Amino acid sequence: MTTVRVLGGPGTGKSHLLVEAAVAHITAGLDPESVLLLTGSGRLAASARSALTARLLAARSGEPCRAVVREPLVRSLHSYAFAVLRKAAERAGDPPPRLVTRAEQDGIIRELLAGDLDDGARGWPRDLRPALTTVGFAGELRDLMSRCAERGVDAEDLRRIGRETGHPEWVAAARFARQYEQVMLLRASVGTAAPQATVPALGADELVGAALDALAADADLLVAERARVRVLLVDDAQHLDPQAARLVRVLAAGTDLTVLAGDPNQAVYGFRGADPELLTGDSQLIELNHSHRCAPAIARAISGVAGGLPGAGWRHLGGSGDSGSVSVRVTSSSHAEATLIADALRRAHLVDGLAWSQLAVIVRSAATAAAIERALSTAGVPVDPAGFGGPVADAPAARALLTVLRATLGGLDEEQATALLTGPIGRVDPVSLRQLRRTLRRNDIGLVDALTGRAPQLPGALGGAVKRVRTVLTAAARANREHHDPRYTLWQAWERSGLQRRWLTSAERGGVDGALADRNLAAVTALFDLADDYVARTTGASVAGLLDHVAALQLAPPSADESAAETVAVLSPHAALGRDWEMVVIAGVQEGLWPNTTPRGGVLGTQRLLDVLDGLGDDVSARAPLLAEERRLLIAAMGRARRRLLITAVDSDSGDEAMLPSAFVSELAAHDTGEVQEPTRPVPAPPLLSPSAVVGRLRAVVCAPDGAVDEDARAGAATQLARLAAAGVPGADPSQWHGMAELSTEAPLWSGEEHTVTLSPSTLQTLTDCPLRWLAEAHGGSGPRGLSSTLGSVLHALVADSGKNEQQLAAELESLWAAVPFDSPWYAANELDRHRAMLAAFVAWRAGSRHELTEVGTEIELAGEVAPGVAVRGRIDRLERDAQGRLVIVDVKTAKSPVTKDDAQSNAQLGLYQLAVAAGLLADGDEPGGGRLVYVGKPTANGGATEREQTAMAPENADEWRAVVAEAAAATAGPQFTARVNDGCTHCPIRATCPAQGVKNV
Ligand code: SF4
Repeated sequence: MTTVRVLGGPGTGKSHLLVEAAVAHITAGLDPESVLLLTGSGRLAASARSALTARLLAARSGEPCRAVVREPLVRSLHSYAFAVLRKAAERAGDPPPRLVTRAEQDGIIRELLAGDLDDGARGWPRDLRPALTTVGFAGELRDLMSRCAERGVDAEDLRRIGRETGHPEWVAAARFARQYEQVMLLRASVGTAAPQATVPALGADELVGAALDALAADADLLVAERARVRVLLVDDAQHLDPQAARLVRVLAAGTDLTVLAGDPNQAVYGFRGADPELLTGDSQLIELNHSHRCAPAIARAISGVAGGLPGAGWRHLGGSGDSGSVSVRVTSSSHAEATLIADALRRAHLVDGLAWSQLAVIVRSAATAAAIERALSTAGVPVDPAGFGGPVADAPAARALLTVLRATLGGLDEEQATALLTGPIGRVDPVSLRQLRRTLRRNDIGLVDALTGRAPQLPGALGGAVKRVRTVLTAAARANREHHDPRYTLWQAWERSGLQRRWLTSAERGGVDGALADRNLAAVTALFDLADDYVARTTGASVAGLLDHVAALQLAPPSADESAAETVAVLSPHAALGRDWEMVVIAGVQEGLWPNTTPRGGVLGTQRLLDVLDGLGDDVSARAPLLAEERRLLIAAMGRARRRLLITAVDSDSGDEAMLPSAFVSELAAHDTGEVQEPTRPVPAPPLLSPSAVVGRLRAVVCAPDGAVDEDARAGAATQLARLAAAGVPGADPSQWHGMAELSTEAPLWSGEEHTVTLSPSTLQTLTDCPLRWLAEAHGGSGPRGLSSTLGSVLHALVADSGKNEQQLAAELESLWAAVPFDSPWYAANELDRHRAMLAAFVAWRAGSRHELTEVGTEIELAGEVAPGVAVRGRIDRLERDAQGRLVIVDVKTAKSPVTKDDAQSNAQLGLYQLAVAAGLLADGDEPGGGRLVYVGKPTANGGATEREQTAMAPENADEWRAVVAEAAAATAGPQFTARVNDGCTHCPIRATCPAQGVKNV
């Protein structure tokens, strides 16, 4: 038997050498079934299989070729172990083994833990007992048992190690592992209600150990396997755990030739128990030091990073082809980093002609990936939306559908109801949710009843949200009753949610919302793929089983076709293994993130256990091996690049969190091949090479005020704009510029006496102040609902609750605060104090005004006609009755600066409400007693709120107000809309393009 080790860095041709070795032996006459090429994963096996097939067909062209082989030539190690077990079962006349999913494993673990808890959890250390009910603990326990299985450590060994090293949690885990083994055996021998449980069941991590046991127990099987496999080829041997290495050794003992290929410097699965030990020893060694993939500059940088590794792996890597480039860029903000990456990718595609699919961005964290994906999409870079991803169950879109399935099975609870209403199906914001709860409470209905019981009568948007969620829940429940296929239930929930049409429309529009919609659609597609996979592999598949299956998957599924789509991949270093691109960007190389030396292993100390098994004592630094693994991960990521490598990081001390580039950045800066003098000096966002950005810059020059730019530059910019316009670039042609197009119509927006204009008090105010602003805001020109608007709604909702005193209101305010999306904790704390003070001012005002006012109601809805052709619709904060029995309108204001007393007299909001009272729209009376603006944000000296008053509307004043209202209503018709400068201009959303503001650059 000859064993050869082949060691080499990225792109040195290890996999190619193995394929060529297989081809050489087969073409030399060896039976193809005598050659076995083992890989670390199914994906790598698939690509090696197609490479081998292509080579064999090429080598044998013209010769008769044996078309059928019974045993695949290329297999993943787990697939080979499973095949051994199946053969062993066949020989013993037993049913074939069954592979249990992680979900099934987790389900059994959770059941056993629940049993432990029922018994008082006495077997577990006291400090771990509270964790026993959590999903995370079950996952950690599975992980620890898997690592033990991979290293051949049985329950008895684990107990002994726990005792000897003083780790009671391992002793407890050992007792648990024995219990788990017994349950699995029982399920195999006796069976359970599930028919598929009557055959031997194994987890993926137990496969290799079980195959070794089978070969040890059945000597004939071992002889047969050794007789069959004459040439054993193993790729990526650095990813094998000790059990897998043992299986390779057992098999290798009978071969004529064994070739072990790998790279200890790219061993990055230490956290999963991998150990490159198989690649050591004194067998014949071939070192490959020349990368056929990486350009010399990249190979030099990789060698530099490898120089910092401990151990005896390779230290020098040579490159091939043209020199290539390595660039290091540090930016002054995360935004600048994302823009820089977008610009670099766009230039690579547009200027240098690289296909999008030849570009990739590798990142360590999902948050960085999301930010970069958003920036790329906005800049017009097509991104593979399923590239990075986290667990499917964590994607909001999938989470909503899984919540529906969970509610279908176990009945809807309050938490699920809230999640569904505020998620993508309901789309209710926290403040509207509060309004909904209050409205339902008035009708004595709970949130769960509103979604599952008799449909409640609800106004407008709230009614729509409740209806959407109800429809989805009803459809899923019906499907679950009538069918037994969980996919059907999932499909019904998805179809009735209406999200498909909504997200497809957004995705077509592009931009940030489009990118988000793309991600949502990708998550739902992944969820359906998982459901398909689960149903195909599980007899008696159920909705409950599907939920467990999805919850147990911690990694995003690979995208269906990684290379076919013309998109840029944004992915993690582990997901990038086995692939390569012309240009790779390694982004977010930040201190604390890459290298990430936070100890792994959680509360059960799994990493520590691995260290103990490897003979490392307590005195060995836990940081050093992690640092080495992070360095190897960087080497693996760099090795994905063929010609260009860009490394980016952020150096910023602004904002809530200071960000520093990691030590890797300065190390790599020494290999920068660019012309930048100081690559680690932070730079701002570069001008982006995108059509809209270039057009914007040229237009700024063309339209600059006289004397602000050189006239030659202006002429040059105009020439470039003309070229772009001729090429059809949007926004380049002056005819598309604001104010340059012909009027599309001069017809008014409406006409005729039968037309009724409905005004809210705030639109009346806007129309009175500035009709142009009204036009813009009424047709999509207003910004999204801001934080101050949300906070205003929170305060209004609280003060509407008449029965509460200051302490109760403050307590409720604090409980709501967590749901308000503040950018920073200090701002949240400041605002909380300010809102507490406003509540105190309101309560003091309320108490101080009771001698003259009596509350009639709060948040009073009102609608109806106030003048010919003009209707009002709105909600009065408070309605009070004065000593003369007249109705007084009270509007609570959170602004810090009250209007003047004169302005209050002409306040359109109070005027319109008084007019509505006079028109008899309220059942409580028709005599207006005036209005008050109560500024709770501006306390008075005695602690109350500053008040501004509008006097009671006399009949003759009512006519004046009717005229104001009619004029405002007429102003909505157009076709001209006046821009009227007023005190609110500073907050106007179209101020930048307002003709009344002397805007020149439009
Ligand atoms: S900036 Fe002032 S004048 Fe111009 S549209 Fe806005 S509110 Fe009207």
